[in-house]
Amino acid sequence: MRSQIPAFRLPEEVLDEEVDRILDMGVQSHFDTYVESLKSIIDKGYDGIFVGTGAPRGSDLDLPGRQECEKQIHVGIEWLGSVAFEHIQKVGKRVLVLGGGNTAMDCCRTARRLGGEDVKVVVRSEFARMKASPWEIEDAQEEDIPILNNHVPKEFVHEHGKLTGMRFDKVDVVYDSAGKRNLVPTGEEIFFAADEVLIAIGQDNAFPWIERDLGIEFGKWDMPQVDKRTFQSSNPKVFFGGDAAFGPENIITAVAHGHQAAVSIDLFLSGKSTQQRPAPGVNLISQKMGVHEWSYDNLVTLDLREKVPHVDKVTALKDRKVEVELGFDINAAYREAERCLNCDVQTVFDGAKCIECDGCTDICPTDCINFIDNADEDALRRTLRAPANDTAQELYVSEALVQTQRVMVKDENVCLHCGLCAERCPTGAWDMQRFLYSVTKAG
Ligand SMILES: Cc1cc2nc3c(=O)[nH]c(=O)nc-3n(C[C@H](O)[C@H](O)[C@H](O)COP(=O)(O)OP(=O)(O)OC[C@H]3O[C@@H](n4cnc5c(N)ncnc54)[C@H](O)[C@@H]3O)c2cc1C
Ligand code: SF4
Ligand code: SF4
Repeated sequence: MRSQIPAFRLPEEVLDEEVDRILDMGVQSHFDTYVESLKSIIDKGYDGIFVGTGAPRGSDLDLPGRQECEKQIHVGIEWLGSVAFEHIQKVGKRVLVLGGGNTAMDCCRTARRLGGEDVKVVVRSEFARMKASPWEIEDAQEEDIPILNNHVPKEFVHEHGKLTGMRFDKVDVVYDSAGKRNLVPTGEEIFFAADEVLIAIGQDNAFPWIERDLGIEFGKWDMPQVDKRTFQSSNPKVFFGGDAAFGPENIITAVAHGHQAAVSIDLFLSGKSTQQRPAPGVNLISQKMGVHEWSYDNLVTLDLREKVPHVDKVTALKDRKVEVELGFDINAAYREAERCLNCDVQTVFDGAKCIECDGCTDICPTDCINFIDNADEDALRRTLRAPANDTAQELYVSEALVQTQRVMVKDENVCLHCGLCAERCPTGAWDMQRFLYSVTKAG
């Protein structure tokens, strides 16, 4: 978090505050300590060990010229780390960044702040297939960084060991009859001049410090075999989480892994099965306050998302530690909160109260309520007023209704949580209830 995510997106003060909350709980820490052998840790007799060492190896690009220009070509995530630790404080004026993911976006924007004037991102694939989040791409483009797609790197060009640029093959994206994508060279060769190149084409795990005779099984891609539910490895004392468990993800996923692994370690140390997991806390609470009054706002409007204001570009590009996003002011925050679709407020149906007046069917703006004869799932999916083609989303099918023996079927995918059905229902068969979910915590 600290060494790769640039400070202009995640300021050090924010990290310090959040990490200190954990350290202040009395966690014993040993900073500046590289673990060279997991065996040496196991031998110290700990009852449980959690490995959260991330995915620290950036992929390299072994093309002609790579060895000769070692000093001017960098692996992106290592370069970002060196910038964060201030081993690197400037970059050449002309910089090429290879790759189309978020790391490439962080590299190019960092290069702009370290003196890069002509910074280009060069990507093999077409724009639509870039892995970077659209907002990260937009932020890079706003900082005058062009994205050049459909260029396959060919060689690093140098004069007497000094990098002068890179050559690329321009390609067309062609899909064959089986729908397979091919990058077909157009025959055009392109040269971009550069003083430095940053390679941001992927990230892997590396565990050179874990001996292979500790009872931890390694599988595909030389990754440890970790139980997806318990985060336990085949050595019951050793747990993995975060990027180290299943490859690069994001911070919130690493935090969630940490919670679940902590539950497992607690169970393990209590002599219980790590598979028998305590249930999370869940609750449903009616939001009805009066005949037409609800504790949440349910007006359906098509307001566009508020744009997060940015610090002005000149200030931002002067200092890599200046946070770019200023956040919402109170009015914008209020407008943005008003766009909430109330995903936490659920429609709850009580068939015993339904008199099948069809009032809710009539008022539902998205046609997601159906009173129909029961049938098998495929038939139901086809006959709904709005056909339910997404089979990953289960249908809600009620018990047979008292009057006609029909059932009420609802496709949750289509529901806006507007509450109009509950407002219209004369018997209270529909209610809008807030769903609370409290994630399981260790202990
Ligand atoms: C450029 C970039 C930008 C990103 N941007 C975002 C973003 O905006 N939002 C987001 O959610 N995620 C982002 N991510 C992903 C995010 O950083 C990771 O998913 C997250 O940090 C993983 O957390 P972790 O605890 O598993 O590992 P890490 O955060 O990688 O922490 C691993 C720690 O283990 C230490 N370590 C490794 N090996 C050893 C060893 N042998 N001995 C001792 N210590 C060791 C490392 O020094 C490090 O401190 C980004 C990643 C990159 C590369
Ligand atoms: S909450 Fe709105 S969209 Fe959902 S079922 Fe009720 S009326 Fe339809
Ligand atoms: S409005 Fe109420 S009573 Fe009428 S059909 Fe819908 S759920 Fe049943």
